[in-house]
Amino acid sequence: MRRKLVAGNWKMHGGLAENQALLEALKSALNGLQGAGMAVCAPYPYLAQLQSELAATDLAWGAQNVSEHAKGAFTGEVSTSMLKDFGCTYVIVGHSERRSLYGESDETVAKKFMAAQAAGLIPILCVGETLAEREGGVTEQVVGRQLDAVVHAAGVDALAKAVVAYEPVWAIGTGKTATPEQAQAVHAYIRGKISGLNKAVADGLVIQYGGSVKAANAAELFSQPDIDGGLIGGASLIADEFIAICKAAA
Ligand code: PEP
Repeated sequence: MRRKLVAGNWKMHGGLAENQALLEALKSALNGLQGAGMAVCAPYPYLAQLQSELAATDLAWGAQNVSEHAKGAFTGEVSTSMLKDFGCTYVIVGHSERRSLYGESDETVAKKFMAAQAAGLIPILCVGETLAEREGGVTEQVVGRQLDAVVHAAGVDALAKAVVAYEPVWAIGTGKTATPEQAQAVHAYIRGKISGLNKAVADGLVIQYGGSVKAANAAELFSQPDIDGGLIGGASLIADEFIAICKAAA
């Protein structure tokens, strides 16, 4: 039985005081919640705040991006060992905003995935198709290609220590959620594809859904057999919403 995981992606939002209020609310409502893993992923400057506020709680935390390089002349970048220094657990790699706005290729995402694992971080690997790709009937090819890049570089066994997030690009931040059936179909495709390579890895793989998840639709999405929780953007900034989503997963 896989344990569901709900992770908040704050994107480039927040501030010390705002975060503090949100974290207080999450800790008082969610600490001790059984049955689901929970995490929040903040911008780099606030990781120290997460480290101190979430120590000894049931909420883990993570970063939203990381360099594929170990160290060196990469101004503005942050390495996996720097994240590990803070006691970081998760790092999102290949978010669609990184792929589309910052030109991250499948190969770069695979390098980030491997660098994260080499440092002992758990990568949350985002995959997903654009609206044009869905309408063009190539959703599985796109998601398959994004997965293949990581599997070819890191090997299928690497997915035993990773999370996959299926995030249809057309559903991210748009208010348009994939229907539970649409999401389940792609999740089943992902699990089936991995199962063809290693059934045990596929059976244990946590596959989150992301794309306009909110309190009102979380339970139905999470009740699908291959949807193991969610990667939550906008709703993770609203305490009551995120708390309800975590409870729906537990
Ligand atoms: C995301 O940022 O990964 C995301 C899924 O955003 P939202 O929940 O706002 O669609």
